[in-house]
Amino acid sequence: MLQTLQDYTNLIAGERAGAASGDWIESYNPYLGQPWARIPRCSDADVDRAVAAAQSALKSPDWKGMTPTERGKRMVRLADLISAKSAELGALETRDNGKLIAEMAAQTAYLAEWYRYYGGLCDKIEGRVLPMDKPSKFAFTRREPLGVVACITAWNSPLLLLGWKLAPALAAGNTVVIKPSEHASVSTLDFVSLFEDAGFPPGVVNTVTGYGHEAGAALAAHPGVAKVAFTGGDHTGQKIYEAAAPTLKHVGLELGGKSPNIIFADANLEAAVMGAVSGIFAATGQTCIAGSRLLVQRPVHDEVVGRLIDVAKAARMGDPSLTDTQVGPVTTRPQHQHILNMIEAGKAGGAECLLGGGVPDRTELGDGWFVEPTIFANVSNDMTIARQEVFGPVLSIIPFDDDDEALAIANDTIYGLAAGVWTKDMARAIHMSDELEAGTVWVNTYRAVSFMAPFGGYKRSGIGRESGQEAIDGFLQTKTVWIETEETTANPFIIR
Ligand code: NAD
Repeated sequence: MLQTLQDYTNLIAGERAGAASGDWIESYNPYLGQPWARIPRCSDADVDRAVAAAQSALKSPDWKGMTPTERGKRMVRLADLISAKSAELGALETRDNGKLIAEMAAQTAYLAEWYRYYGGLCDKIEGRVLPMDKPSKFAFTRREPLGVVACITAWNSPLLLLGWKLAPALAAGNTVVIKPSEHASVSTLDFVSLFEDAGFPPGVVNTVTGYGHEAGAALAAHPGVAKVAFTGGDHTGQKIYEAAAPTLKHVGLELGGKSPNIIFADANLEAAVMGAVSGIFAATGQTCIAGSRLLVQRPVHDEVVGRLIDVAKAARMGDPSLTDTQVGPVTTRPQHQHILNMIEAGKAGGAECLLGGGVPDRTELGDGWFVEPTIFANVSNDMTIARQEVFGPVLSIIPFDDDDEALAIANDTIYGLAAGVWTKDMARAIHMSDELEAGTVWVNTYRAVSFMAPFGGYKRSGIGRESGQEAIDGFLQTKTVWIETEETTANPFIIR
């Protein structure tokens, strides 16, 4: 039966708009494998309009002249509006990206905290009076917004990943153009309606939807954009970096990972196994912080593997909009194929497939893009399955003997987003957290995030940090103002 597709439009200069070309992209419901909505397919002309709107808002008295305290109040008002609408936004995300409603609803319920937190920081952005070594000079610093910030986001957690950029960018006084993923734009298009109600002037927040190589590339290269804040794959991150180079834009890159989750023999094994499951099968493995390499100390290896298989086997797979579903579909058809290819690479590379390893043979799952929770044992760290990001429910288990070996394996990766350590020995926990090359280390927990906690990657997992107080620095620039306090005329040929 043909479904009527619901159209969602962009917000540019406070007005709703389709693409200048009149073209659309169908957005799919991954559980049904069917399109359910349409989003505008934007290109250069739409990006030009959105950037012009953001540039004009940046200089408008309504935004530039707003006191930081007032800006903060509007961000807190926005947070309240998000809280009131969070269940609806979570349901939209589940419909559009196929991730579990339990997960998306938890994310959208928590989202408001980023806007509250950064709203509170708006009027705490302070310059300094410098203790001057040149007695007649008075000098102070001001911290000013960068300008127009492009926020380009991935499909796996659209509103949360956006909030990590948008909240500090606005708190710092910038204006923004958002380019959500073509695979999951709907929640963002719906969400931006809240800005008018919260009292943000038109043009402060704008959107352009479309393909990465069209709208995304045009935005990343646009001379009117001062910073690109990006979340996505590392190869796309590299393209963004290159596109930003000719105009020397600031960039923030939150990229992929191949995170090690390390279980020592002295760990609370029940908690560790649940941590391993949350690291890889939650969100169907579609999370940048997936603990996709599970390092297990040999004395407990077989016990951990046995327990993991029991839990993963029992995970309820099905409709992501039901609150008791534990494993949903993957978000896109190409991603589905990529995961299956990686599973084949694991088998061909000699890893032992202990669980799953393909598409579930269950008619009740219909045409949804499902992959079985898959566990590979006897993986060595040089296999493709241990080196490349899968972004799916595929776990590689690697045995180790001691701390040094665990560290050597864990750090032998081009990525460095996150790592987990499971042990009761706190000296070991501290030593491991010192030595692990990752932007986040979790000890006896996994996949915990907070608006207060800086998040970002080492090595090829990214540049810059999101969340926490330091994130706001990434959206500010410092101006130093010098004032001569004496009436003198200095020799112009020497430095003052
Ligand atoms: P992706 O890199 O394919 O796309 C991300 C965004 O970039 C999309 O909006 C896309 O349209 C856009 N894009 C693509 N090509 C572009 C180009 N040439 N110029 C400008 N924009 C372009 O990533 P994805 O498949 O949407 O998401 C999965 C990836 O994101 C994984 O690698 C995952 O690890 C990573 N991720 C990282 C984090 C983090 O915080 N570190 C969080 C979630 C996801």
